[in-house]
Amino acid sequence: MRKIIVGFSGGVSSAWCAGWALRNYPRNEVVFLFHDTKEEDPDTYRFIEEMAAALGHPVTEVSDGRSVTEIFHDENAIANNRMAFCSRILKAEQRDKYFSHLRANGTSEIVNVLGFSAMETQRVQRAAGRAIQQGYTCRFPMIEDKTTKQQAADWCQGLGVRPPRMYLWSEHANCVGCVRGGKAYWLAVRENAPEIFEQRAALEEEFGHTILKDTTLRKLAVVGLKRRVKQREAIEIGPCDCGD
Ligand code: SF4
Repeated sequence: MRKIIVGFSGGVSSAWCAGWALRNYPRNEVVFLFHDTKEEDPDTYRFIEEMAAALGHPVTEVSDGRSVTEIFHDENAIANNRMAFCSRILKAEQRDKYFSHLRANGTSEIVNVLGFSAMETQRVQRAAGRAIQQGYTCRFPMIEDKTTKQQAADWCQGLGVRPPRMYLWSEHANCVGCVRGGKAYWLAVRENAPEIFEQRAALEEEFGHTILKDTTLRKLAVVGLKRRVKQREAIEIGPCDCGD
């Protein structure tokens, strides 16, 4: 028995990949797999629901059950770009748990469909390496079909599903206040989700260490950026399974 698992994260690329999977594999083999971090933007949940309805396919949710902030408290630390344990616990471990569940229930072949772009070479290499190690296959349809994120967003619009509002100010539809974000990202969080900025700044004070490498969020709010960068500065994606 084979299963085609689409990482259905709430971004436009993974939504496009979900459509691609339904066009390329038997529908009964395809699973839209979602892991809830409990700290997605409310509009991202709207997008996931509407996209699944537009494609006429259910979402399978496998989640830890805790929020990002609850993980920080349980681990007694705030995750950051150097150690994104929230991503590991809330996403990677949930995916692995689901794959084990499938195997235990008779699935002999797993194909993991991921919405990474040709620009994300490190993520692609890491995912491909992990797949070889763990005995499944990876496909990267955005790269195979030379589809851009903009084309994926246009495709969503064409289906009548508005892309998540996170894209108005962030490169990724990740958690609001993603701890992997850079300085420009955090200034955008401050402008677009001030309550989340305040919550993360308070967490830095509570735990006594910072999300960014060399400053606190409160100092950043005062000093700003030393140089101009694009407002939607990309989140530096390291060993992260989050968003697209
Ligand atoms: S999107 Fe960011 S904050 Fe959310 S789980 Fe992933 S790394 Fe952590």
